[in-house]
Amino acid sequence: MPEVITTVRTVKDLRARLAAWRKAGETVALVPTMGALHAGHLALVTLAKSKADRVVVSIFVNPIQFGPREDFTTYPRDEAGDLAKLAKAGAHLVYAPDLAEMYPKGFTTHVKVGDLTEDLCGSARPNHFEGVATVVTKLLLQSAPDMAVFGEKDYQQLLVIKRLVRDLDIQVEIVGGEIVREGDGVALSSRNGYLSPAERKIAPLLYQTIHDVAAHLAQGEGADAASEAGRFKLEAAGFRVDYVAVRDPDTLAPLSGPVSHARVLAAVYLGKTRLIDNVPVPPPASTNR
Ligand code: AMP
Repeated sequence: MPEVITTVRTVKDLRARLAAWRKAGETVALVPTMGALHAGHLALVTLAKSKADRVVVSIFVNPIQFGPREDFTTYPRDEAGDLAKLAKAGAHLVYAPDLAEMYPKGFTTHVKVGDLTEDLCGSARPNHFEGVATVVTKLLLQSAPDMAVFGEKDYQQLLVIKRLVRDLDIQVEIVGGEIVREGDGVALSSRNGYLSPAERKIAPLLYQTIHDVAAHLAQGEGADAASEAGRFKLEAAGFRVDYVAVRDPDTLAPLSGPVSHARVLAAVYLGKTRLIDNVPVPPPASTNR
């Protein structure tokens, strides 16, 4: 018998399920996703299961976090496949609201997190983090989980969400999960399917390059020189580089000179596909963590 997982589509049904668990004294973790699930998402489910009694996964492709020329309409969607994967991974409930449930007619309230959203991905994608912050605030208020799990893959997003729950006094623990990679180092992403075979071939250079930048920083090289060398290497390999940046891992403040504790973050384009990745300083021993 194939495993099945219950799916709810309204806030009302979601709250009814959660109320029953709470009454039984069970803790709840929320894992927000946009679907097209891969092993990176499923690792967050496993992490959530290790920390809470019940795991709810939301699947919602959030239109307000996409720019007008971005891929909202073509973003991969595979609900049946996602439900099968989540059942197998042992999640307990899927919350998959439709657009009208999340943004009813007349919806006008948005959540804007300052400072942290102003550069890096915030520069190339104006309004992106406002869209993320708004939907995550709604998901947290709809489900009121004990914790919510997000991937370090979207490192700036993770910090934005930590800031938002602190600033708005939302009572939830935000948990970060490590980046899951392919054997060649490429970070799993629902957008990797957009890459042509030729683009996919050079994609591993992104992680290799930022890993090298992190290794050079750990050996004492200055932040500016290391990040410039990384940008040069990526451009020479055929990437269009948005940024290679060395930042404070907690505040994302720019760093220069020698650094011992930092995060190297990068965003690049391969053709039309935007890829992001990041690595801690000092970096993990293997390039294929
Ligand atoms: P998305 O469906 O792309 O919005 O991602 C949903 C969640 O999965 C976010 O918290 C992402 O950071 C996380 N995630 C995406 N890719 C990975 C990955 N390769 N490793 C770990 N977490 C990931």
